[in-house]
Amino acid sequence: MTHPIDDAVLDLIYAQDPDAAAILAGEQDRQAHTIELIASENHASPAVVHAAGTCFTNKYAEGYPGRRYYGGCAHMDEIETLARERAKQLFNCEYANVQPHSGAQANMAVFMALLEQGDTFASLVLKDGGHLSHGMSLNFSGKYFKPVHYPLHYDKAHPQHEQIDYDAVRSVCMEHKPKLLLCGYSAYSRTIDFAKFRAIADECGALLMADIAHIAGLVAAGEHPSPFPHCDVVTTTTHKSLRGPRGGLILTNDVEIFNATNKALFPGVQGGPLMHIIFAKAVAFGEALKPGFKDYQQRVRANAKALAAALTDHGYRICSGGTDNHLMLVDLTARNPELTGRDAETWLEAANIICNKNGIPDDQRKPMVTSGVRLGSPATTTRGFGEAEMKQVAVFIDRILTAGLKGEDALAAETEAVRKEVRSLCGQFPMPGGTPATVFFSQ
Ligand SMILES: *Cc1c(COP(=O)(O)O)cnc(C)c1O
Repeated sequence: MTHPIDDAVLDLIYAQDPDAAAILAGEQDRQAHTIELIASENHASPAVVHAAGTCFTNKYAEGYPGRRYYGGCAHMDEIETLARERAKQLFNCEYANVQPHSGAQANMAVFMALLEQGDTFASLVLKDGGHLSHGMSLNFSGKYFKPVHYPLHYDKAHPQHEQIDYDAVRSVCMEHKPKLLLCGYSAYSRTIDFAKFRAIADECGALLMADIAHIAGLVAAGEHPSPFPHCDVVTTTTHKSLRGPRGGLILTNDVEIFNATNKALFPGVQGGPLMHIIFAKAVAFGEALKPGFKDYQQRVRANAKALAAALTDHGYRICSGGTDNHLMLVDLTARNPELTGRDAETWLEAANIICNKNGIPDDQRKPMVTSGVRLGSPATTTRGFGEAEMKQVAVFIDRILTAGLKGEDALAAETEAVRKEVRSLCGQFPMPGGTPATVFFSQ
């Protein structure tokens, strides 16, 4: 399966730059023939991919629609307005800023708008599933602001083991009186109760922010409860479950917060907006507003559940006991105490299965080793995998990890066998755009 535009793009670049074209062909080939389980990745449609590669990249449009610093912005205003209107419709809110270059930039703008340097905010720590822009010491959020972290339940006997401990969120907030309470995570597989967070924010006098970078697609499709009307401000990425181009988004129902975050983003954090990406965001939001998107997100959740169940059957432990969304954290040590996230990531990649090592709650190993992997279903679901294929993925994973434990020879043989089967499965479920690489490599 070859998409004519992908072919044409590769030919065009090859004609003037074979070196760069070879790298592009290699990446197209890799994506086409691997099973993508990284929970924060997806396969954008050819329309979205190529919308990001238009002449909108040529244009400076500093400012916002109707108030630009440069001439020639009529179509910039049209596309930014279209992207905003669609974002508002998707997330059912009053105001949208579509200019953040990424999720981290969106978060930085919100922090700059709502906090003073040194102010306290409350969040989940990175190692429990938070994001580095939620207070990690090397990040702006940890360097210029004061994070206090709320814990997960950590008690194997507790029914909510490894889930948000809302009583603890409340006591941390009542003790430290943060100006901002942040919910929304990078490695958390359960439903977030925004109403509970709202009640805590009201009690301690904090503003409530949700960072829905991971679950945005589910939220847009009604497959995860909406942060509105509970949250004062919501940030997200556009390239994860939402399946758009790489980028960020700030959403709110509060005109003052809208104005303050607009100013904080530009000129506070960013210069000229990436208009080609805003063009692609508009196209992606248009796709997400179509009826098929709800069905896609339902399948994303069903596939995550199927993968979690199959891995549990093979003896792995899903942290927190399961998944409500598109991802899961897998405790490998339940299958065998010798297994590490680092080995699993490396061994699986050799068999064309891509995932990332990830610490599990209270992980005794270092972040570069870890006891777990994080797996997600958005990309495989986009390819058309169903629950039967997710079960097969679990079998592949267990075959590789079991062989890895036996030693190098067993691993080499099993890697070869599984890689062949993975390539064949990927051939049955081509990624959007397909792979022009075979054409390229035969040149
Ligand atoms: C991915 C993610 C981000 C950051 O997104 P970038 O686009 O990589 O900057 C922010 N917050 C959360 C919770 C995320 O998972």
